[in-house]
Amino acid sequence: MTAMSALVYEGPRTMTMRTVEVPRPAEGEVLVQVLYSGICGSELSGFLGQSSIRSAPLIFGHEIVGRIADYGPGVDAEIAGGVGSAVVLNPLFSCRACSFCLSGKQQLCPKRKLLGASLPGGNAEFVAVPMKGVHSLPDDSDLAIAALGEPTAYAIHAVRASRAGAGDNALIVGAGPIGLFIAKVLIQYGVQPIWVAERNDSRRAAAAATGAVIVESDEHVAQAVRAASGGSGVHIAFDAVGSPATRLACVESVMPGGTVILSGLHTDQTTLPMNAIVRSEICLAGAFAYTPEDFAMALDWLQSGRLAIDFDIVKAPLSEGQRWYERLVEGDPTVKVMLEPGAS
Ligand SMILES: [Zn+2]
Ligand SMILES: [Zn+2]
Repeated sequence: MTAMSALVYEGPRTMTMRTVEVPRPAEGEVLVQVLYSGICGSELSGFLGQSSIRSAPLIFGHEIVGRIADYGPGVDAEIAGGVGSAVVLNPLFSCRACSFCLSGKQQLCPKRKLLGASLPGGNAEFVAVPMKGVHSLPDDSDLAIAALGEPTAYAIHAVRASRAGAGDNALIVGAGPIGLFIAKVLIQYGVQPIWVAERNDSRRAAAAATGAVIVESDEHVAQAVRAASGGSGVHIAFDAVGSPATRLACVESVMPGGTVILSGLHTDQTTLPMNAIVRSEICLAGAFAYTPEDFAMALDWLQSGRLAIDFDIVKAPLSEGQRWYERLVEGDPTVKVMLEPGAS
């Protein structure tokens, strides 16, 4: 076993199936045979050639479930689980020695690396990863659902950053996977009502199924949210898109003293009404990725069924990956596509 198929990003809108060498697990690493590699919204700008952290040639994919295939030197096979055991990967690796890492904020580590960005990712038959990112899964796990651990952890991190709690209400702008998971997590935190603004019909339906209230106006989100909240606006607004319009809608929808959590990364530069933010003491905060604690919580909530998955997961062979990235950048509303490197 020396060669494998991989879907390689070769430049804007171009991903090609290639035969490449199977990575050899280094000291402290395991080789994982990939069963599912989810396509993440954050990769779409990379597919278009607009991501500062993804450059060709690169194997994308950071939402990964697979089976252990081999070990590098120094890995305790007993701890890792035997060859063939199912695992889900935390794809964010940090130095574990800086002040951020030591205080549990690995997502801020200046030396952090992400599978599918600064390291080869899961859109291949095999991926070699440091043992510290490997989480064993119970035998009876639904493996496709476990592959949602990464986006779920992202949402949990955003909700924890907001300090939301019972008695709060909230707005979420954007009902892609992160927006939907934020809604599901907020419900667990006792937040209600939760309004969701989303342009696409099928994503609106998925958001309504979580128990959220759909904002009827696309053009005047803040006005509609203020009217629905008795004129006051919401305590917390989450931007799960990252465009100038969605960021502005969040700022204009929160009440004085409210919080805007920015987790979308669509556009870098945005103009906002800063004087209004000052006068209304609005707290603007970024929320990026997840801590190991968020990741463990996500796996627990998915496995226990505390977070129910009520949208369809589309599974597709790796060879259809190019077509799916293309469809998703064109606005296909499918919430989650998982590539299956083992399927043909
Ligand atoms: Zn992701
Ligand atoms: Zn560090």
